[in-house]
Amino acid sequence: MEFKDTREVRIRNPYDVIVAGGGIAGIASAVSAARRGAKTLLLEKQVNLGGLATVGLISWYEPLCDGEGKQMVYGIGEELVRLSVRYGFENLPAAWGGRGENHHRNGRFSTLYSPNAFSLALDEYVRENGSDLLFDVLAVYPVMEGKKCLGVMTETASGREFFPAGAVVDATGEASVLHRAGMPTEEGENFLTYAMQGFGREDLLSHDPARDMLDLRRTYSLGSDLRGEGHPAEVRTFRGISSDEENRYLYEGKRRAMELLRSKDKSAFEISSLPTMPQYRKIRRLLGKVTFTGEEEGVFSPESVGRLGDFRQAGRHFELPYGTLFHPEYPNIAAAGRVISAGGDGWELARVIPVCALSGEAAGAAAALAVKRGEALSELPVKLLQETLQNAGVRLHIED
Ligand SMILES: Cc1cc2nc3c(=O)[nH]c(=O)nc-3n(C[C@H](O)[C@H](O)[C@H](O)COP(=O)(O)OP(=O)(O)OC[C@H]3O[C@@H](n4cnc5c(N)ncnc54)[C@H](O)[C@@H]3O)c2cc1C
Repeated sequence: MEFKDTREVRIRNPYDVIVAGGGIAGIASAVSAARRGAKTLLLEKQVNLGGLATVGLISWYEPLCDGEGKQMVYGIGEELVRLSVRYGFENLPAAWGGRGENHHRNGRFSTLYSPNAFSLALDEYVRENGSDLLFDVLAVYPVMEGKKCLGVMTETASGREFFPAGAVVDATGEASVLHRAGMPTEEGENFLTYAMQGFGREDLLSHDPARDMLDLRRTYSLGSDLRGEGHPAEVRTFRGISSDEENRYLYEGKRRAMELLRSKDKSAFEISSLPTMPQYRKIRRLLGKVTFTGEEEGVFSPESVGRLGDFRQAGRHFELPYGTLFHPEYPNIAAAGRVISAGGDGWELARVIPVCALSGEAAGAAAALAVKRGEALSELPVKLLQETLQNAGVRLHIED
């Protein structure tokens, strides 16, 4: 069939920095760019902010510390962990400046939080920090002139709209902007995880009003854990990059959710939240100037944009190089969050919430500075970016 798309394109006002995707990384990027004085717009295809961390129902903020008392992630990563518990019943451990009560699990600088309360708070946080924000906007394609991105073509309730931009940050969690710009990427593989939240009558009856309400926000996790334990043998693993794969994933996940629902007494069980995005861990990521592999334990990086720990194991320290956020041939597209250039075990370390905030803050600052100076991301003096991040409270090096 021959088909020519003749729809009209509405051209919107230009921005210095456009961030595609309002998950944790996109929020950090947009706030960071706006704080550097860039006219910034955050585009989110859903109607609530937070991505996997909220509408994906993850609701556990992995640690900002190294598990041995040293805080690794600062800056927006810390602002967001504090925001995550501001309106829910959880609190941070006293050792990390919280009220201590209702803190769940270990004493690390991490917490459970209400995904819904956090999402609303994120909305306010983005607006208060000076970034424009548009919901229900699908960033469809970067419009390219050679390797330079002129802006983002979108689909909205108003139709097809083009947003011109000085620089674009891909924080889509699936690297769709990077990939469609022609940048080299690598795909990930995912086990079946389908987690939803709810509670049963027994939770209500056994609830002690003196305690917090966590037993009224239970997570029902179907499928596998982080390492694939529990992945059904008859189900192929998933790649998140095609519509057919996504629908296969949704079918398998929801089928299991229905089985659970049928096994319950219908008068005594409530599902309070279903995930509104696929709970894939690794979809696609940039093959950038530098790849963070996770083998850099304890290694000083002269181009570090932030330090991080290992959420799985105490006492491990890393530095994230600036080169993980861009590709040298593409002057004005940056990566943030779980799509940065992190491979192997480095991808595991980089994809968790505090590290997505870290890379997001760095990508937003880099994009804003590069636009202001009229430079490519690869030409930006790293010292300037580092000073900017340090002035915002980020610790770059393990020994700082
Ligand atoms: C099963 C599972 C368990 C996890 N457990 C934990 C945990 O316990 N603790 C932890 O810290 N981390 C955990 N993680 C990892 C962590 O939640 C995510 O990796 C992190 O939140 C990703 O943030 P992000 O901003 O990079 O991407 P995302 O959260 O994926 O955000 C991307 C955003 O972009 C939007 N978007 C996508 N495409 C477009 C487009 N074209 N146009 C406009 N908007 C678009 C999406 O709607 C979304 O809001 C887990 C992940 C999974 C899958």
